[in-house]
Amino acid sequence: MTRTAYTTCALCEAMCGLRVEVAGDRVVEIRGDEDDPFSRGHVCPKALALQDLHEDPDRLRRPMRRVGDTWEPLGWDEAIAFAADRIHDLQRRHGGDAFAAYLGNPTAHNLGAIVYAPLVLKSLRTKHRYSATSVDQLPHMFASFFVLGHQLLFAIPDLDRTDLFIAFGANPLASNGSIMTAGDVRGRLRAIRERGGRVVYFDPRRTESAKAADAHHFIRPGTDAFVLLAMLHVVFAEGLVKLGRLASSCERLDVLEAVTKAYTPERAERVSGVPAATTRALARELATTERALVYGRVGACVQEHGGLAAWALLALNLVTGHFDEPGGVMFPTPAVDVIRGGAGVGISRGSFGRWKSRVRGLPEFGGELPVACLAEEITTPGEGRVRGLLTICGNPVLSTPNGAQLERALAGLDFMVSVDPYLNETTRHAHLILPPVSPLERDHYDLVFHAVAVRNTAKWSPAVFPKPEGARDDGEILGALLEAIEHRRGRLTKRALRATALRRLGARRVVDLGLRVGPYGAGVAGVAVGERGLVRARGDLSVAALERAPHGVDLGPLERCMPDRLPRRDGRRVIDLAPQLLVDDLRRLDEYERRLDDASPALSLIGRRQLRSNNSWMHNAPQLMKGRDRCTLLMHPSDAEARGLASGDRVRVASRVGEVEAPLEVSDEVMPGVVSLPHGFGHHRPGVRLRVAAESPGVSLNDLTDDRALDLLTGTAVLNGTPVEVTRAPG
Ligand code: SF4
Repeated sequence: MTRTAYTTCALCEAMCGLRVEVAGDRVVEIRGDEDDPFSRGHVCPKALALQDLHEDPDRLRRPMRRVGDTWEPLGWDEAIAFAADRIHDLQRRHGGDAFAAYLGNPTAHNLGAIVYAPLVLKSLRTKHRYSATSVDQLPHMFASFFVLGHQLLFAIPDLDRTDLFIAFGANPLASNGSIMTAGDVRGRLRAIRERGGRVVYFDPRRTESAKAADAHHFIRPGTDAFVLLAMLHVVFAEGLVKLGRLASSCERLDVLEAVTKAYTPERAERVSGVPAATTRALARELATTERALVYGRVGACVQEHGGLAAWALLALNLVTGHFDEPGGVMFPTPAVDVIRGGAGVGISRGSFGRWKSRVRGLPEFGGELPVACLAEEITTPGEGRVRGLLTICGNPVLSTPNGAQLERALAGLDFMVSVDPYLNETTRHAHLILPPVSPLERDHYDLVFHAVAVRNTAKWSPAVFPKPEGARDDGEILGALLEAIEHRRGRLTKRALRATALRRLGARRVVDLGLRVGPYGAGVAGVAVGERGLVRARGDLSVAALERAPHGVDLGPLERCMPDRLPRRDGRRVIDLAPQLLVDDLRRLDEYERRLDDASPALSLIGRRQLRSNNSWMHNAPQLMKGRDRCTLLMHPSDAEARGLASGDRVRVASRVGEVEAPLEVSDEVMPGVVSLPHGFGHHRPGVRLRVAAESPGVSLNDLTDDRALDLLTGTAVLNGTPVEVTRAPG
């Protein structure tokens, strides 16, 4: 007999509602849930892979301890005790900073992990915290922190009402939306054009999204900041500034005008390849279209000037009157408000430079160090050397720069423990793996992505299947680890008691409290809320209320909320249009321009995202890996001709840090001087248990990206714009 379950796909940030037909403990069919008010029935091919994930014989079901070259299963209590003992012993002998932690991107998509991982990190009392943030969205967090006062105040495109969508380094048709959670992003972008609006992309590659747009402009990797600053220059030079109702909250407009004077469209053209006339026309169109916005994503982030690009994006939307206005960029009001906080689910405003990395002296941001320096922190001798590591839902060997170097470093750790369902390129170096249940066996509420969604909704998704006997979800694993670590500190500290209480509370209750004290909740007596005391209650949201609405509830379009949503800085809610740290970083941009003049004609390597992939961890799903080899090097015909190469040739790609071989695909999809490899491949390493992935192993982009190449302002790795040489592979 079959039954129907409703849930949410948590593989990417689009939060698609799913209708799952189930027979016993088997998935019969997965389809989009037409009644989900957010995703409206949309799914991408990855939704089907949830079945592959659930049934995957390679997915680990029990804790595994490495013994020499083999792995032996062990019970949960023994495994948690083993991890806590080894962490405690290592920190007792070498100090708290001898143990590091790395959080992968799926942490943000996983209720138990997002609730408990930050508590485990605090409990470890280490300055060596790393995550996928510094190979992804860090520049946006950095700019939001300095301009708006909170690292998570992301300006979200109001896709459903805009008439002009200009995007830099974004490919939403492959990513399904990023820092722009939008179920059915393809339909929402198409709707802009259907109502007479325009969609315009800047990218070194004519991406899937660019092909479905009104216009696409090639831009050299790493030069987005030049074009964005030039657009600001035009807005000021032509008297198009319009701050509107936020004028009194905006500070240092004069500084912004003064510093952008030097960045003319002609200068941007020389560096970026974008014609000055294009920059001028789009700046005017942005400023004079009532409902318009400019947006940037990973291509504009993981480059040498990602921080400046993110600042310029915010500033452009602000000075053209498209900030916190319908059709411009806006700010969601999530039902569990992780920005205002309350009920233990708040995320801090951010911080900068409270400590520095030991070897390179790079500053922390938001309590984290750049992951590009993790390998050297492990291998460089001296006090404070990292000797142990906890990884949670991450595969940094494939997703961080110079992965081969990190891999060698991991092999030398005294102790490594991974919370992960797979024996992958990273976890094979662990001494202990703690595998959580499959995504269909755990409850879900999106704590992070409602805060970056293009519409306010809320949905509680109970597990489709009960947990198998003896299995644990991420929250249970991390909660138990948290408690065990705290209890090994010798006495029953306040923190230890709190850890026990939190573990017993469970993620469901944490969400329930968050909903009750949130903007649509009925409130809870005795719970302090946010920074302003009690929050206005507009409804009666709770987990129980959401359980009565299995498709989710629609809470309406984004609403104006500024300046009230800004945290106070020195008692005032202000927008700093020109933070001094960012202004000072313009010097580095000028130096970059001078360096370009002497640069050798090397090719510039960029990554690319694919719809049937999800960073580094979906290649073991048979339904996603069908078809031709997708790990090819794209090269423009003129560059191929100059090297005597043709499609199908096997080529060697070499950078400062390594070399790989891949099949060549000659295509005018990439601009001259640029080559592109997809990310997330490289499954040829020994000791990995991903049998489907191993059949199409590909090569890792991050065996070429350089751990020394950083946006020095933010600490973000430069994953786009790596200089490489491409030659025919020998033999
Ligand atoms: S777009 Fe695909 S991967 Fe993302 S949530 Fe929807 S079904 Fe899942």
